[in-house]
Amino acid sequence: MLGSFLDRLGIVEITCLLCGLPFRPEDQGFVCDDCLRGLKPEPVPYLSRIEPVAGYRVFGSYRGPVGEILRIIKFKHALPLARRLGRAIAGDLGRYVEEVSPDLVTFVPVHLWRFWSRGFDQNEEILEGTGLDFDKVLVRVKHSRPLARLRREDRIRAVQGSFKVRPSFLDRINSKRVLVVDDVLTTGSTAVSVAVVLISLGAEKVFFYFVSVED
Ligand SMILES: [Zn+2]
Repeated sequence: MLGSFLDRLGIVEITCLLCGLPFRPEDQGFVCDDCLRGLKPEPVPYLSRIEPVAGYRVFGSYRGPVGEILRIIKFKHALPLARRLGRAIAGDLGRYVEEVSPDLVTFVPVHLWRFWSRGFDQNEEILEGTGLDFDKVLVRVKHSRPLARLRREDRIRAVQGSFKVRPSFLDRINSKRVLVVDDVLTTGSTAVSVAVVLISLGAEKVFFYFVSVED
């Protein structure tokens, strides 16, 4: 009954890219509500310290469902799905915010050309979806070579100088605790680069929250 009504409205069933079951999309047509609601923080294997990052937390593995959703967001340019992912991780991120009590919450921005080609910044949209207050503190100033092909030391060098703090935040980060959200923890070189910039400009402590880890 409801089905035929929705069919007449042109709302058709779509196959969920995660579980393969059909669902009726509301705000996005990639992943069903059951899969999104089923996202839970997963225990991840031992994670080493990332100096000078004061501490960090990871939601799940990039090989798991959360990673699959991140890949769909990237390759299908699925902005509404980024917001839904934000909603799904909001509880876990909120607990980490309580734990480290940051003065500012922000995110690792994508490079401008990638923003133009994709139309949105996924880390920003994920944060938007969490409903938490956050600020746009950082700007990416230089696009580095594809990091995957570089050795670890070269990667760290490649991302040095890739970020700047927006002038309006130079005073606001001074002696403050900053929590930065990023989608994937790979080698940690991006986190190092961001933390070095923030600390050198006066931030007291820099924490990270990664939506996933490549393990
Ligand atoms: Zn599903």
